[in-house]
Amino acid sequence: MEKRIPISERLPEERIKDFDEVSLGYSKEEAIAEAKRCLGCSRPLCVEGCPVGINIPAFIERIKEGDFRGALQKIEEKNLLPSICGRVCPSEYQCENKCTLGAVGAPIAIAGLERAASEYGGEGIIEGVNTNPSKPKRVAVIGSGPAGLTCAAELARSGVEVTVFEALHKLGGVLRYGIPTFRLPRNIIEKEIEKLEAMGVKLEKNVLVGRTIPFPDLQTKEGFSAVFVATGAGLPQLLGINGENLEGVYSANEFLTRVNLMRADLFPHYTTPIKRGKRVAVIGGGNVAIDSARVALRLSAEEVYIVYRRTEEEMPARKVEIQHAKEEGIIFEYLLSPLEIRGNGEKELICGRMKLLDERDASGRRKSKLTDEITSLKVDVVVVAIGQRPNPLIPSLEPRLKVGKEGEILVDEEMRTSLEGVWAGGDIASGAATVILAMGMAKKAAESIRKYLGIAP
Ligand SMILES: Cc1cc2nc3c(=O)[nH]c(=O)nc-3n(C[C@H](O)[C@H](O)[C@H](O)COP(=O)(O)OP(=O)(O)OC[C@H]3O[C@@H](n4cnc5c(N)ncnc54)[C@H](O)[C@@H]3O)c2cc1C
Ligand code: SF4
Repeated sequence: MEKRIPISERLPEERIKDFDEVSLGYSKEEAIAEAKRCLGCSRPLCVEGCPVGINIPAFIERIKEGDFRGALQKIEEKNLLPSICGRVCPSEYQCENKCTLGAVGAPIAIAGLERAASEYGGEGIIEGVNTNPSKPKRVAVIGSGPAGLTCAAELARSGVEVTVFEALHKLGGVLRYGIPTFRLPRNIIEKEIEKLEAMGVKLEKNVLVGRTIPFPDLQTKEGFSAVFVATGAGLPQLLGINGENLEGVYSANEFLTRVNLMRADLFPHYTTPIKRGKRVAVIGGGNVAIDSARVALRLSAEEVYIVYRRTEEEMPARKVEIQHAKEEGIIFEYLLSPLEIRGNGEKELICGRMKLLDERDASGRRKSKLTDEITSLKVDVVVVAIGQRPNPLIPSLEPRLKVGKEGEILVDEEMRTSLEGVWAGGDIASGAATVILAMGMAKKAAESIRKYLGIAP
């Protein structure tokens, strides 16, 4: 069997000096060669693993023929953000995990091919733009992350007049302020947003719904027939230990936002500063922790530690990101749980040694337990990346909006909330999850909103 074609990457010693993209993607020839490995299965299991149901064998077939435009069009029937998903989708757990070839060798590099289609397929679909201009229905979307952008695009395609309200001065949600540029260059986000504008979507930045505009006003005063809440999970979870308020201790959310959105890496040219530690400890084992560690390295840290309470096997981060972090020299400290942070300037991160238990948690990962052994790390910056919760603002101001235990807005199978004319989707409804799951929920919501407004898809 032909081997999987590797995707080129910049060398670690080169890439840690800047914030440019690490993965170089396939050339056209490489993409065609990789596509030719696909069996075009009559029962394509890969499609079952895709939360938005892309017809994967059909788009790969077009790449085989060198028809990248056709491949892109096929993808865009189901997914309007292919250049983003081709870069950040955890495909190894989804479509690629189901690929038939995985049982006998390496699965097809589906995300790599999706990225190639977006790169070589031209401008992509720009359609919709008020196909029903006589009396268009108006929908408000709150939040411009992947959920908000997807719902807006889906509705604009059906001729709905959509306005997206975004609290920040830039659009994209976590794609912009969370995921670093070396994984997702900003021109890629810009391109997807320009497509949305070309479809007639109105984009209102610097509008915090709940403060700048009262939430109920959208329906009562502003005349929107439906509202989609896609405000994400931007509330950092904290450790709750002594020393967490010391100078030089950041939540990952603040640390990444300062660099990705406020350009603290370019301080003093930009006004937002950041403490550049020589020795940095990042607490956590997910994508957010790995991203924070790799950002700290690029801010010229000499030693960066990932401190995780279980082992690599239980880490929720994408395998490829763990691999990249290791290549770049990030030091992984497993089975450690922070107990206290001491000292200003140089700090001591006191940790308890953990041991793994046979018992598993709800996600199927082995639980861990604190032992009596204590150890410590000398660092000058600590970044806490142990999870995010749904943004509480809108539910806190609107008691009729039912929420779950973690503060997530409760929705039914069509993403309808407990409020008439209000839908929710993405991380605000699921808790912190993934780009493609947020998009899948947004598509369901758009479908349900269309039905509610009496509009054909
Ligand atoms: C550092 C990091 C790395 C990640 N890496 C990956 C990855 O590699 N692959 C992957 O699939 N997923 C990854 N994720 C998760 C993924 O980014 C999220 O699941 C996804 O962005 C959720 O999309 P969303 O649209 O629901 O919310 P968000 O992307 O959080 O967007 C919500 C938007 O709503 C705005 N907003 C909030 N409240 C209001 C308000 N009241 N009024 C107006 N606007 C408001 C916010 O400013 C924000 O722009 C990562 C997350 C982080 C933090
Ligand atoms: S399961 Fe794998 S081999 Fe089969 S159609 Fe999908 S990508 Fe191709």
